[in-house]
Amino acid sequence: MLPSAEEDSDGKEEVRRKVDLIVGSDGAHSAVRQQMMKSVRFDFQQEYIPHGYMELTIPPTTSGDFAMEVNYLHIWPRNEFMMIALPNEDRSYTTTLFMPFEMFEAIKTEDQLMDLFHKYYPDSLPLLGEENLKKIFFSTKASPLLTVKCSPYHVGDKAVLIGDAAHAMVPFYGQGMNCGFEDCLVLTDILDKYGDDFSQALPAYTKFRNPDAKAICDLAMYNYTEMRALVNTKSFLLRKMLDRILNTVFPNAWVPLYTMVTFSRTRYHECVARRAWQDKVLHRLGITISWTAMIGVGLALWTHLAARHGGPSPLDIVHKWSTNIEL
Ligand SMILES: Cc1cc2nc3c(=O)[nH]c(=O)nc-3n(C[C@H](O)[C@H](O)[C@H](O)COP(=O)(O)OP(=O)(O)OC[C@H]3O[C@@H](n4cnc5c(N)ncnc54)[C@H](O)[C@@H]3O)c2cc1C
Repeated sequence: MLPSAEEDSDGKEEVRRKVDLIVGSDGAHSAVRQQMMKSVRFDFQQEYIPHGYMELTIPPTTSGDFAMEVNYLHIWPRNEFMMIALPNEDRSYTTTLFMPFEMFEAIKTEDQLMDLFHKYYPDSLPLLGEENLKKIFFSTKASPLLTVKCSPYHVGDKAVLIGDAAHAMVPFYGQGMNCGFEDCLVLTDILDKYGDDFSQALPAYTKFRNPDAKAICDLAMYNYTEMRALVNTKSFLLRKMLDRILNTVFPNAWVPLYTMVTFSRTRYHECVARRAWQDKVLHRLGITISWTAMIGVGLALWTHLAARHGGPSPLDIVHKWSTNIEL
Protein backbone atom coordinates (compact mmCIF):
# COMPACT_ATOMS: atom_id res chain seq x y z
CA MET A 1 0.00 0.00 0.00
CA LEU A 2 1.27 3.53 -0.78
CA PRO A 3 2.24 5.57 2.25
CA SER A 4 -0.15 8.23 3.39
CA ALA A 5 1.27 11.33 5.04
CA GLU A 6 -0.07 13.88 7.48
CA GLU A 7 1.23 16.29 10.13
CA ASP A 8 1.42 15.08 13.72
CA SER A 9 1.01 17.35 16.76
CA ASP A 10 4.72 18.39 16.65
CA GLY A 11 4.31 19.58 13.10
CA LYS A 12 6.53 16.73 11.84
CA GLU A 13 5.46 14.69 8.87
CA GLU A 14 3.99 11.35 9.90
CA VAL A 15 4.20 8.57 7.30
CA ARG A 16 1.82 5.61 7.51
CA ARG A 17 2.37 2.30 5.74
CA LYS A 18 0.51 -0.97 5.81
CA VAL A 19 2.95 -3.86 6.16
CA ASP A 20 2.79 -7.61 6.76
CA LEU A 21 5.32 -7.60 9.59
CA ILE A 22 7.37 -5.02 11.50
CA VAL A 23 10.83 -6.30 12.45
CA GLY A 24 12.25 -4.06 15.17
CA SER A 25 16.03 -4.18 14.70
CA ASP A 26 16.50 -0.59 15.82
CA GLY A 27 18.97 -1.09 18.65
CA ALA A 28 19.09 -0.73 22.42
CA HIS A 29 16.78 2.32 22.49
CA SER A 30 14.31 0.74 20.07
CA ALA A 31 11.33 2.85 19.04
CA VAL A 32 9.47 -0.33 18.01
CA ARG A 33 9.95 -1.75 21.50
CA GLN A 34 8.67 1.48 23.05
CA GLN A 35 5.46 1.15 21.03
CA MET A 36 5.14 -2.53 21.95
CA MET A 37 5.36 -1.61 25.63
CA LYS A 38 2.10 0.29 25.22
CA SER A 39 0.18 -2.46 23.50
CA VAL A 40 0.81 -5.79 25.25
CA ARG A 41 1.61 -7.08 28.72
CA PHE A 42 5.30 -6.40 28.38
CA ASP A 43 8.12 -7.08 30.86
CA PHE A 44 10.99 -4.67 30.58
CA GLN A 45 14.21 -4.27 32.53
CA GLN A 46 17.06 -1.86 31.86
CA GLU A 47 20.30 -1.40 33.79
CA TYR A 48 23.17 1.03 33.20
CA ILE A 49 26.50 0.02 34.71
CA PRO A 50 28.67 2.63 36.47
CA HIS A 51 31.37 2.30 33.79
CA GLY A 52 31.53 4.06 30.45
CA TYR A 53 33.80 3.35 27.50
CA MET A 54 35.97 5.31 25.10
CA GLU A 55 37.50 3.97 21.92
CA LEU A 56 41.17 4.80 21.30
CA THR A 57 43.40 3.53 18.49
CA ILE A 58 46.74 1.80 18.31
CA PRO A 59 47.86 2.40 14.72
CA PRO A 60 50.05 -0.01 12.70
CA THR A 61 53.83 0.36 13.16
CA THR A 62 55.81 2.54 10.74
CA SER A 63 56.62 -0.63 8.77
CA GLY A 64 52.88 -1.34 8.50
CA ASP A 65 52.76 -4.27 10.97
CA PHE A 66 50.55 -4.96 13.96
CA ALA A 67 52.01 -3.17 16.98
CA MET A 68 51.35 -6.21 19.26
CA GLU A 69 50.85 -9.95 18.93
CA VAL A 70 47.88 -10.48 16.67
CA ASN A 71 45.04 -13.01 17.17
CA TYR A 72 44.72 -12.16 20.84
CA LEU A 73 42.37 -10.15 22.94
CA HIS A 74 44.80 -7.90 24.85
CA ILE A 75 43.59 -6.92 28.32
CA TRP A 76 45.07 -4.52 30.86
CA PRO A 77 42.99 -5.55 33.91
CA ARG A 78 43.21 -3.05 36.75
CA ASN A 79 40.42 -4.40 39.00
CA GLU A 80 38.11 -1.37 39.05
CA PHE A 81 38.77 -0.46 35.42
CA MET A 82 40.53 -1.86 32.38
CA MET A 83 41.63 -1.35 28.82
CA ILE A 84 41.35 -3.90 26.00
CA ALA A 85 42.64 -4.01 22.43
CA LEU A 86 41.34 -6.02 19.48
CA PRO A 87 43.13 -6.28 16.11
CA ASN A 88 41.55 -4.91 12.94
CA GLU A 89 42.10 -5.99 9.37
CA ASP A 90 44.01 -2.75 8.61
CA ARG A 91 46.55 -3.80 11.30
CA SER A 92 45.43 -1.19 13.80
CA TYR A 93 43.90 -2.08 17.17
CA THR A 94 40.62 -0.76 18.45
CA THR A 95 41.62 -0.03 22.03
CA THR A 96 38.76 0.47 24.46
CA LEU A 97 39.14 2.14 27.81
CA PHE A 98 36.48 1.13 30.38
CA MET A 99 36.32 3.20 33.57
CA PRO A 100 33.72 4.48 36.03
CA PHE A 101 32.23 7.73 34.69
CA GLU A 102 33.63 9.60 37.71
CA MET A 103 37.15 8.66 36.60
CA PHE A 104 36.53 9.91 33.07
CA GLU A 105 35.04 13.13 34.43
CA ALA A 106 37.93 13.68 36.87
CA ILE A 107 40.46 13.87 34.03
CA LYS A 108 40.39 17.50 32.99
CA THR A 109 43.97 18.18 31.88
CA GLU A 110 46.54 16.51 29.65
CA ASP A 111 48.83 16.04 32.66
CA GLN A 112 46.11 14.14 34.55
CA LEU A 113 45.59 11.91 31.53
CA MET A 114 49.30 11.20 31.23
CA ASP A 115 49.55 10.48 34.98
CA LEU A 116 46.80 7.86 34.63
CA PHE A 117 48.47 6.18 31.66
CA HIS A 118 52.00 6.34 33.15
CA LYS A 119 50.67 4.75 36.33
CA TYR A 120 48.37 2.05 34.92
CA TYR A 121 49.14 1.53 31.24
CA PRO A 122 52.77 2.63 30.71
CA ASP A 123 53.50 -0.05 28.07
CA SER A 124 50.57 1.13 25.96
CA LEU A 125 51.78 4.73 25.67
CA PRO A 126 54.42 4.19 22.95
CA LEU A 127 51.81 2.18 21.01
CA LEU A 128 48.95 4.67 21.34
CA GLY A 129 51.22 7.70 20.91
CA GLU A 130 50.87 10.41 23.56
CA GLU A 131 49.65 13.13 21.18
CA ASN A 132 47.21 10.75 19.50
CA LEU A 133 45.85 9.71 22.90
CA LYS A 134 45.40 13.29 24.11
CA LYS A 135 43.67 14.27 20.88
CA ILE A 136 41.14 11.42 21.01
CA PHE A 137 40.53 11.62 24.75
CA PHE A 138 39.72 15.33 24.81
CA SER A 139 37.62 15.31 21.64
CA THR A 140 35.43 12.31 22.65
CA LYS A 141 32.90 11.68 25.36
CA ALA A 142 32.72 8.39 27.25
CA SER A 143 29.63 6.40 26.20
CA PRO A 144 27.30 4.55 28.56
CA LEU A 145 26.79 0.77 28.66
CA LEU A 146 23.49 -0.91 29.45
CA THR A 147 21.63 -4.18 29.62
CA VAL A 148 18.07 -4.48 28.31
CA LYS A 149 15.92 -7.53 28.95
CA CYS A 150 12.32 -7.74 27.84
CA SER A 151 9.54 -10.16 26.99
CA PRO A 152 7.67 -10.98 24.79
CA TYR A 153 9.57 -10.20 21.59
CA HIS A 154 6.40 -10.06 19.50
CA VAL A 155 2.94 -8.53 19.25
CA GLY A 156 0.44 -10.98 17.80
CA ASP A 157 1.40 -11.68 14.20
CA LYS A 158 2.34 -8.05 13.52
CA ALA A 159 5.71 -7.18 15.09
CA VAL A 160 8.87 -8.82 16.35
CA LEU A 161 12.13 -7.64 17.97
CA ILE A 162 15.62 -8.85 17.10
CA GLY A 163 19.14 -7.81 18.08
CA ASP A 164 19.81 -5.15 20.69
CA ALA A 165 16.18 -4.05 20.47
CA ALA A 166 15.30 -7.36 22.15
CA HIS A 167 18.37 -7.85 24.34
CA ALA A 168 21.08 -5.20 24.65
CA MET A 169 24.00 -6.39 26.71
CA VAL A 170 27.25 -4.99 28.08
CA PRO A 171 30.05 -5.80 25.61
CA PHE A 172 32.23 -8.00 27.82
CA TYR A 173 31.44 -11.33 26.16
CA GLY A 174 31.74 -9.94 22.63
CA GLN A 175 28.40 -11.56 21.83
CA GLY A 176 25.99 -8.67 21.22
CA MET A 177 26.17 -8.70 17.45
CA ASN A 178 26.61 -12.48 17.28
CA CYS A 179 23.49 -12.92 19.35
CA GLY A 180 21.60 -10.60 16.97
CA PHE A 181 22.73 -12.64 13.95
CA GLU A 182 21.73 -15.81 15.79
CA ASP A 183 18.26 -14.28 16.31
CA CYS A 184 17.99 -14.10 12.51
CA LEU A 185 18.94 -17.79 12.16
CA VAL A 186 16.51 -18.85 14.88
CA LEU A 187 13.66 -16.73 13.49
CA THR A 188 14.26 -18.02 9.95
CA ASP A 189 14.25 -21.65 11.16
CA ILE A 190 11.02 -21.08 13.08
CA LEU A 191 9.36 -19.32 10.12
CA ASP A 192 10.32 -22.30 7.93
CA LYS A 193 8.90 -24.69 10.51
CA TYR A 194 5.53 -22.91 10.58
CA GLY A 195 5.40 -22.19 6.83
CA ASP A 196 5.64 -18.41 7.44
CA ASP A 197 2.52 -18.41 9.61
CA PHE A 198 3.42 -15.41 11.80
CA SER A 199 0.67 -16.12 14.33
CA GLN A 200 2.42 -19.36 15.30
CA ALA A 201 6.01 -18.51 14.48
CA LEU A 202 6.34 -15.28 16.49
CA PRO A 203 5.18 -16.68 19.86
CA ALA A 204 7.41 -19.73 19.24
CA TYR A 205 10.36 -17.37 18.59
CA THR A 206 9.77 -15.49 21.85
CA LYS A 207 9.48 -18.75 23.79
CA PHE A 208 12.62 -20.26 22.27
CA ARG A 209 14.84 -17.19 22.29
CA ASN A 210 14.00 -15.50 25.57
CA PRO A 211 15.89 -17.86 27.95
CA ASP A 212 18.98 -17.66 25.73
CA ALA A 213 18.95 -13.87 25.47
CA LYS A 214 18.57 -13.53 29.24
CA ALA A 215 21.41 -16.01 29.80
CA ILE A 216 23.87 -14.15 27.54
CA CYS A 217 22.92 -10.78 29.09
CA ASP A 218 23.79 -12.27 32.50
CA LEU A 219 27.00 -13.87 31.24
CA ALA A 220 28.11 -10.57 29.71
CA MET A 221 27.48 -8.83 33.04
CA TYR A 222 29.46 -11.54 34.87
CA ASN A 223 32.37 -11.07 32.45
CA TYR A 224 32.38 -7.38 33.31
CA THR A 225 33.93 -8.38 36.67
CA GLU A 226 35.92 -11.31 35.29
CA MET A 227 37.81 -9.30 32.69
CA ARG A 228 38.82 -6.36 34.85
CA ALA A 229 39.39 -8.13 38.20
CA LEU A 230 39.05 -11.92 38.39
CA VAL A 231 41.70 -12.56 35.72
CA ASN A 232 44.19 -11.21 38.29
CA THR A 233 43.32 -13.90 40.87
CA LYS A 234 45.06 -17.27 41.41
CA SER A 235 41.72 -19.13 41.68
CA PHE A 236 40.74 -17.88 38.21
CA LEU A 237 44.05 -19.03 36.70
CA LEU A 238 43.76 -22.40 38.48
CA ARG A 239 40.24 -22.87 37.10
CA LYS A 240 41.44 -21.97 33.58
CA MET A 241 44.22 -24.56 33.91
CA LEU A 242 41.82 -27.26 35.17
CA ASP A 243 39.42 -26.47 32.31
CA ARG A 244 42.23 -26.81 29.79
CA ILE A 245 43.44 -30.14 31.21
CA LEU A 246 39.94 -31.62 31.47
CA ASN A 247 39.08 -30.39 27.98
CA THR A 248 42.20 -32.13 26.60
CA VAL A 249 41.30 -35.39 28.37
CA PHE A 250 37.52 -35.22 27.69
CA PRO A 251 37.19 -32.99 24.59
CA ASN A 252 33.46 -33.62 24.15
CA ALA A 253 32.30 -33.89 27.76
CA TRP A 254 34.26 -30.96 29.21
CA VAL A 255 34.13 -27.79 27.12
CA PRO A 256 35.07 -24.54 28.92
CA LEU A 257 32.29 -21.98 29.17
CA TYR A 258 33.98 -19.36 26.97
CA THR A 259 34.63 -21.92 24.22
CA MET A 260 31.01 -23.14 24.36
CA VAL A 261 29.60 -19.62 24.16
CA THR A 262 31.98 -18.25 21.55
CA PHE A 263 32.76 -21.15 19.25
CA SER A 264 29.62 -23.30 19.23
CA ARG A 265 25.90 -23.00 18.55
CA THR A 266 25.11 -24.48 21.98
CA ARG A 267 22.22 -22.45 23.30
CA TYR A 268 23.33 -19.80 25.78
CA HIS A 269 21.14 -21.08 28.61
CA GLU A 270 22.50 -24.60 28.06
CA CYS A 271 26.07 -23.25 28.27
CA VAL A 272 25.18 -21.78 31.66
CA ALA A 273 23.60 -25.07 32.83
CA ARG A 274 26.66 -27.06 31.70
CA ARG A 275 28.99 -24.69 33.49
CA ALA A 276 26.91 -25.12 36.68
CA TRP A 277 27.33 -28.90 36.30
CA GLN A 278 31.11 -28.49 35.84
CA ASP A 279 31.27 -26.31 38.96
CA LYS A 280 29.41 -29.01 40.92
CA VAL A 281 31.77 -31.75 39.69
CA LEU A 282 34.87 -29.72 40.59
CA HIS A 283 33.40 -28.82 43.97
CA ARG A 284 32.74 -32.49 44.79
CA LEU A 285 36.15 -33.49 43.49
CA GLY A 286 37.69 -30.79 45.69
CA ILE A 287 35.85 -32.09 48.77
CA THR A 288 36.89 -35.69 48.00
CA ILE A 289 40.54 -34.69 47.53
CA SER A 290 40.51 -32.63 50.75
CA TRP A 291 39.04 -35.50 52.79
CA THR A 292 41.45 -38.01 51.27
CA ALA A 293 44.38 -35.73 52.06
CA MET A 294 43.15 -35.15 55.65
CA ILE A 295 42.68 -38.89 56.27
CA GLY A 296 46.14 -39.57 54.76
CA VAL A 297 47.80 -37.01 57.03
CA GLY A 298 45.89 -38.40 60.05
CA LEU A 299 47.01 -41.98 59.35
CA ALA A 300 50.63 -40.91 58.80
CA LEU A 301 50.62 -39.03 62.11
CA TRP A 302 49.08 -41.98 63.94
CA THR A 303 51.71 -44.38 62.49
CA HIS A 304 54.47 -41.99 63.50
CA LEU A 305 53.19 -41.62 67.09
CA ALA A 306 52.60 -45.38 67.43
CA ALA A 307 56.19 -46.08 66.36
CA ARG A 308 57.55 -43.48 68.76
CA HIS A 309 55.48 -44.12 71.89
CA GLY A 310 54.37 -47.72 71.35
CA GLY A 311 50.76 -48.83 70.86
CA PRO A 312 48.95 -50.19 67.81
CA SER A 313 49.48 -48.51 64.44
CA PRO A 314 46.67 -48.28 61.82
CA LEU A 315 48.25 -51.26 60.02
CA ASP A 316 48.22 -53.36 63.21
CA ILE A 317 44.50 -52.70 63.61
CA VAL A 318 43.73 -53.59 60.02
CA HIS A 319 45.78 -56.78 60.44
CA LYS A 320 43.89 -57.69 63.62
CA TRP A 321 40.50 -57.10 61.95
CA SER A 322 41.41 -59.22 58.95
CA THR A 323 42.63 -62.04 61.24
CA ASN A 324 39.32 -61.90 63.14
CA ILE A 325 37.39 -62.12 59.89
CA GLU A 326 39.40 -65.22 58.88
CA LEU A 327 38.54 -66.86 62.22
C1 LIG B 1 32.04 -1.02 23.05
C2 LIG B 1 31.25 -2.09 22.38
C3 LIG B 1 31.92 -3.22 21.92
C4 LIG B 1 31.21 -4.25 21.30
N1 LIG B 1 31.89 -5.37 20.88
C5 LIG B 1 31.22 -6.38 20.32
C6 LIG B 1 31.92 -7.55 19.88
O1 LIG B 1 33.12 -7.66 20.01
N2 LIG B 1 31.18 -8.55 19.32
C7 LIG B 1 29.83 -8.48 19.19
O2 LIG B 1 29.23 -9.43 18.69
N3 LIG B 1 29.15 -7.38 19.61
C8 LIG B 1 29.80 -6.35 20.15
N4 LIG B 1 29.13 -5.23 20.57
C9 LIG B 1 27.66 -5.21 20.47
C10 LIG B 1 27.19 -4.82 19.09
O3 LIG B 1 27.75 -3.59 18.69
C11 LIG B 1 25.68 -4.73 19.11
O4 LIG B 1 25.13 -5.84 19.76
C12 LIG B 1 25.13 -4.67 17.71
O5 LIG B 1 25.59 -3.52 17.05
C13 LIG B 1 23.59 -4.64 17.73
O6 LIG B 1 23.12 -4.59 16.44
P1 LIG B 1 21.63 -4.10 16.16
O7 LIG B 1 21.51 -4.08 14.66
O8 LIG B 1 20.68 -4.91 16.93
O9 LIG B 1 21.54 -2.61 16.72
P2 LIG B 1 22.39 -1.34 16.29
O10 LIG B 1 23.75 -1.69 15.83
O11 LIG B 1 22.24 -0.35 17.40
O12 LIG B 1 21.60 -0.81 14.99
C14 LIG B 1 20.32 -0.22 15.11
C15 LIG B 1 20.06 0.60 13.85
O13 LIG B 1 18.73 1.10 13.91
C16 LIG B 1 18.75 2.48 13.57
N5 LIG B 1 17.61 3.13 14.26
C17 LIG B 1 17.47 3.36 15.59
N6 LIG B 1 16.29 3.97 15.84
C18 LIG B 1 15.67 4.10 14.65
C19 LIG B 1 14.40 4.65 14.26
N7 LIG B 1 13.55 5.17 15.16
N8 LIG B 1 14.10 4.63 12.94
C20 LIG B 1 14.95 4.10 12.02
N9 LIG B 1 16.15 3.56 12.35
C21 LIG B 1 16.50 3.57 13.64
C22 LIG B 1 20.10 2.98 14.06
O14 LIG B 1 20.47 4.15 13.37
C23 LIG B 1 20.98 1.81 13.71
O15 LIG B 1 21.45 1.88 12.41
C24 LIG B 1 29.79 -4.17 21.16
C25 LIG B 1 29.12 -3.02 21.63
C26 LIG B 1 29.83 -2.00 22.23
C27 LIG B 1 29.09 -0.80 22.74
